Amino acid sequence: MKLSTKLILFFSGLGIVFLTVAMYIGQSTTVDILDRQIRTALENYTFHTVDKIDRMLYEKYVDVKNIARDPIIASRHSTAAQITERLRSYQSNYASYASMSFFTLDRVRIADTSAKNIGQQSPLKGYWTQLKEGTDVLVDVSFSDTLNDNVIRFAAYVKDSEGASFGVVVLRLTLDVLHDIVKEVKGLHDRDTKMDVDLVSSEGLLVYSNYNLKGILKETSSDWLFAKPLLSSGKKVGSARHRHSGGTEEEILAFSREHGYADFKGNNWTLIMSVPSKEAFAPVHQLRTKMFMVSFLLALKGLVIIYIFARRIIRPLEVLSHGFHEIGKGNLDVRVDVRSRDEIGQMSEAFNNMVIELKDYNEKLLTYGIDMQKNNVELKTKARLLELRELESGLFSRMSELFQACNNVEEASVVIKNTISQLFPRDRGALYIYNASRNMLEGISLWGNPPPQEAVITQNECWGLRRGHVHVMADEGKDLVCQHVREKGVPYICTPIMAKGETIGMLHLLLDSMTGKSYDQERLKEKEQLALRLAEGCGLAITNLKLQESLRNLSMRDPLTGLFNRRYMKESLELEWQRSLRKYSHIGIIMIDIDHFKRFNDTFGHDGGDKLLCELGMFLAKQIRGGDIACRYGGEEFTIIMPESSIEATTQRAEQIREAASHMHVMYKQQSLGTITLSLGVAVLPIHGGDTNTVLQAADAALYRAKHEGRNRVCVAEEGDSQGVLTEQI
Ligand code: GH3
Ligand code: MG
Ligand code: MG
Repeated sequence: MKLSTKLILFFSGLGIVFLTVAMYIGQSTTVDILDRQIRTALENYTFHTVDKIDRMLYEKYVDVKNIARDPIIASRHSTAAQITERLRSYQSNYASYASMSFFTLDRVRIADTSAKNIGQQSPLKGYWTQLKEGTDVLVDVSFSDTLNDNVIRFAAYVKDSEGASFGVVVLRLTLDVLHDIVKEVKGLHDRDTKMDVDLVSSEGLLVYSNYNLKGILKETSSDWLFAKPLLSSGKKVGSARHRHSGGTEEEILAFSREHGYADFKGNNWTLIMSVPSKEAFAPVHQLRTKMFMVSFLLALKGLVIIYIFARRIIRPLEVLSHGFHEIGKGNLDVRVDVRSRDEIGQMSEAFNNMVIELKDYNEKLLTYGIDMQKNNVELKTKARLLELRELESGLFSRMSELFQACNNVEEASVVIKNTISQLFPRDRGALYIYNASRNMLEGISLWGNPPPQEAVITQNECWGLRRGHVHVMADEGKDLVCQHVREKGVPYICTPIMAKGETIGMLHLLLDSMTGKSYDQERLKEKEQLALRLAEGCGLAITNLKLQESLRNLSMRDPLTGLFNRRYMKESLELEWQRSLRKYSHIGIIMIDIDHFKRFNDTFGHDGGDKLLCELGMFLAKQIRGGDIACRYGGEEFTIIMPESSIEATTQRAEQIREAASHMHVMYKQQSLGTITLSLGVAVLPIHGGDTNTVLQAADAALYRAKHEGRNRVCVAEEGDSQGVLTEQI
């Protein structure tokens, strides 16, 4: 719920409570006052009405007394006609009287203005009785036979000059006279109010009623019950609120007892006026309605004022709240426009200042942040580079370490491949090395998926090799593309591998990791540098290994034939012998000697002989299996070691060699050296001896035997061959 709504509800609630209390107090006070006023007004009306009736009765009292003293009427000598005439003249003067009569003391009517019932005796005994009791004038309400209506009678004795009563004068007034007086009572609140008026005797009998004409002289006033106790308590004037028995409507009544005059005490009548409370208190109801309306209007006005006031208080707060909300969203351009000079105005000013400062700080922070971000990026880059360098140097040192353990270039190429795969994990590549004749470069190691397509390249096909300098192809549109590169659209680096000023090969890197990327000069440069370092490291290692290899070859190979020398053969035989002991296998040994070789020397010279030896060396190398060892034993003698070979297999192989050699054609200086024959001796370890020397002697002895038996044959060692003499020529 909004604060303004809360405030409005709070003040409205407060206003309503105050208004209700004020209304309640105001209304109850007003009602009490009005109640009292109305009752007082009613009492006054009643009093004045009784007073009017009293005055009227007193006037008639005086009238009847005067008429009774009239000389004609008060004369015993007057005739009935004279009296009638006199009465009529009075009636004409006092028009309010209905009739006037003259009775004898025997209640006989002798004169009457209406001329009715003349000579008849009045039936109203009580009336005469009361007069006799000494009352001068009797005023009473009774039914008049002559007028056939209820009338107010005024009766007075007629006395002669002696003071003796001889008749009674009766004047009759219709109840209209009372009605007229009652009618004059305008009612309450200066308007016609339906007011019930009862005039009752001292016993409560209805003498007059403006609403119950039938009950006159017959019924007791229904209001008498309420007025009587108050009259008994000595009150002459009073009022009460009551409800008629069985009636649903509450009434308020006022009464006033006839007060009379000094010479006319009256009849002790009581006037009772009653009016429905609802009607009497109509002004109260009207006032209540008015007050309610006024209260409602006031409440409405109050609500409007509260609303406007609340809005005036809340609006700046809302503006402030909106400002804070905007700050929360990151909008630091927000300003609040509150011009009031109260606390909210001061708050707004403080808010605006705060936002300005905040924006200032924010901008500074942003600048710091950007700087920090830059520094961070730089640091990260440096850290990454350091990490990379560390990894690279780790890989380089490991590579160098592994190079130390490599025996040949093939092993080194595996090490190079592994290292490059880790340095350029997403790239492909190849390591090309010049062949012995240096007319082409062979890919001794190719890696990646798929690896570069060219396994053999020439110097002319590569711009790197041609220039003797690293060649980078980053953009096919700008850079030269080497012929050996078949992969289109892939940037690559060709780095010549140099050693001691000579190009020995080329490191080719296909940079898949940079394919399709925007040209990253820095990264490419890094890769180029790395490739250069690699090529540098590899060059030296490969050269060293090649050197080692050639040295090793020199120490274990015969330079003329390329076959192993005798020393190597003996070491190998010893090694194989140890292996065969574990496997319980045989080792076949074939000793070969060229028949009459001396003749070749003699015929074609020493070089021709060398050529023949060389060709035979190559021939023997082809004749053997992978695990066999062929060596030049010395001079024109050769030895073949055949691990895991039985005597039969060895003999068979010796025979094959002899046979094949007989078909050899060796050319020397465009002339044939003719055919050769071989003598071969076969011995098997451990059949022909318990150690290598013994078996070699046995094979040699078998060869010796083959010579003796006519050459160009194979002889298998026999018992006692091991005792033969081993030829030592080299
Ligand atoms: P045979 O074995 O059949 O009994 O007769 P042979 O002529 O082959 O045997 P001999 O032992 O008499 O001669 C061996 C000759 O081989 C002697 C030597 O001049 C020659 N010879 C030894 N070593 C070499 C060499 O390295 N080059 C050349 N060209 N000749 C060599
Ligand atoms: Mg020979
Ligand atoms: Mg020989």
